Amino acid sequence: MNVIEVIPIARTIGTETLSYFTGENIPLGALVKVPLRKKKINAIVVATHPVSDVKSHVKTADFSMRKIDELTSTKFLSPEFMKAVQKTSTYFAAPIGSILTQTVAGGLFSYPDKIVPKLPQPSTYSPMDRFVVQGDDLERSSHHKSLIRQEFARKRSVVILVPTVEDGTYMHKLIEKGIEEYTVFLHAGITKKALKETLHKIQNEPHPMVIFATGPFLALPRTDIATIIIERENGKGYRTPKRPYIDYRVFAEFLAFESNARLYVGDILLRTETLERQSRGEFVESPPFKWRSLSTAEDSLIDMRPDRNRDAPLEKFRILSPLAETVIQTTRTQSEHMIIYATRRGVAPMTVCGDCQNIVTCRKCSAPVVLHEPKAQVQGDSVPFFLCHRCGDRRGADETCSVCDSWKLGTVGIGIDLIAKKLRDKFTDIKLYIIDADTTPTEKAVKETIAKWRAAPGSILLGTDMMLSYLHEPVHNVLIVSLDSLFSLPDFRIQEKIVYTLTKLRTLATSTFILQTRKPHEKVLEYALKGNLADFHRLHIAERKQFNYPPFSVLIKITLEGKRDQIVKEMEELQSFLAPFEIEVFPAFTHTVRGNHVLHGLLRIPREQWPLPELVTKLQSLPPYVALRVDPESLL
Ligand SMILES: [Zn+2]
Ligand SMILES: [Zn+2]
Repeated sequence: MNVIEVIPIARTIGTETLSYFTGENIPLGALVKVPLRKKKINAIVVATHPVSDVKSHVKTADFSMRKIDELTSTKFLSPEFMKAVQKTSTYFAAPIGSILTQTVAGGLFSYPDKIVPKLPQPSTYSPMDRFVVQGDDLERSSHHKSLIRQEFARKRSVVILVPTVEDGTYMHKLIEKGIEEYTVFLHAGITKKALKETLHKIQNEPHPMVIFATGPFLALPRTDIATIIIERENGKGYRTPKRPYIDYRVFAEFLAFESNARLYVGDILLRTETLERQSRGEFVESPPFKWRSLSTAEDSLIDMRPDRNRDAPLEKFRILSPLAETVIQTTRTQSEHMIIYATRRGVAPMTVCGDCQNIVTCRKCSAPVVLHEPKAQVQGDSVPFFLCHRCGDRRGADETCSVCDSWKLGTVGIGIDLIAKKLRDKFTDIKLYIIDADTTPTEKAVKETIAKWRAAPGSILLGTDMMLSYLHEPVHNVLIVSLDSLFSLPDFRIQEKIVYTLTKLRTLATSTFILQTRKPHEKVLEYALKGNLADFHRLHIAERKQFNYPPFSVLIKITLEGKRDQIVKEMEELQSFLAPFEIEVFPAFTHTVRGNHVLHGLLRIPREQWPLPELVTKLQSLPPYVALRVDPESLL
């Protein structure tokens, strides 16, 4: 006799499990019809135990479990997949049903028979091994291609997990040549019909395959998958934006382990966490593994502090260095292409009172507001305005200091609008293409703008972070106007993000790479400029260790939102509920959201101890209004 735990599947997946006795041997991940009240409902088996294991627990339970004599089950998710889901549920301290909503795309439930393997299982699997691949896009894609050739010869398939559709489309294009017939890409952007056809192909193709997938499409109907590659592992897109907050990289690693598949992790610069694990021997370098990122461009670090720019005494705050101006001129006369990177939207990231130093903030959410120039293409947009980048609130910029009533409000830092204005003033007939959330709000608009810029030699693409994942082809000249303001963000990953961004842009440049800064002594900038990833990692890992940040600890961020007194009281209750584990409490970087206050609490657990069963159980029992992030992207 067995006890099975199931999760009902209606239009959505439930989060509560139901338990039943049954004499049947039902595999994990199977679909079953179970009685609930007076109806029979579909459910998925998330755990099974022999009765002997659970008897003591059953006796103390205050509900009576139903016994089902005849239970028909159909295969759905594989037991290996379900074990990975269980581990993910423990790791992120989230209920198993909510993990299923993130790891099994909704569309797959429409074709349950399509995700069950049909082809026979191969006789052997490779041993569980983990490898790291660090190199630029072309180096990685040729590494993956030779890996695929080997695997195809052994009659095995390869899965390539990607963070975004754009990343997948690009890598797919680099790899598919010669094996188009056996290469597919599953993601949320494909039509229902294409999803059904692709699943059918994966299920019935006798030849081994390369399957690209985003996080929710790893439930695949094949048993010959012996390799999982996590591509662009330092890229954005692996963490879910909604509850439960999980990370597909963690899930994929559990899945590789449970299915005895080899794991490869690749990027231009791997995460600090991954590189640390490699130094501990958890990962093996897969050649060519590059500690130095190469570029043919001539690189220059330009010190922009005022006293270093004596050639321009009239301008106390210079935006473009003489070298930058020369390169812009060359780009135009030689019909080259140029990218100018801006860190911030708007005119400047902050507006400050010149008399009392008060920072101008949003009236709704208290975040610093950003001054914007009116956009010519937006109708009715004629005067400068303040925009809150946190909550979207907008108001006219014609105001005095809210503290001392002074008119002396001035901007601090350099935003993209300011750079655009400067370029147009200095080079009157310049062809400028702009990418930021205001000018190109959609993916389509971003792609169209990049295509127009490519088609116009001698033109300049000026953009924020938003353009980065869409840039793949080499470009003559790259200029970074300034990313100094990023250093002041209270984010333990910021240095890594800066180096990642610079490394990506540097590998695109073929002729000139210019980095302007008022912080020329930041070692990070020097290492990034030279592509010296080894020294950057040594420096950064020492800092992470000193402050006990990941990977030396696992951080668990607990967030409460609401009326100030109420959330303070709730956090105190959480502190006593979770004792003896200590919660450090700190107000959010932005104090209020939608008129509510936000309070964060932080637990820090030694990495080798996580997941701690007693803490996981308590965290899983927290009510849904408590937002829980294990391994958060930032502490902000
Ligand atoms: Zn003031
Ligand atoms: Zn706001």
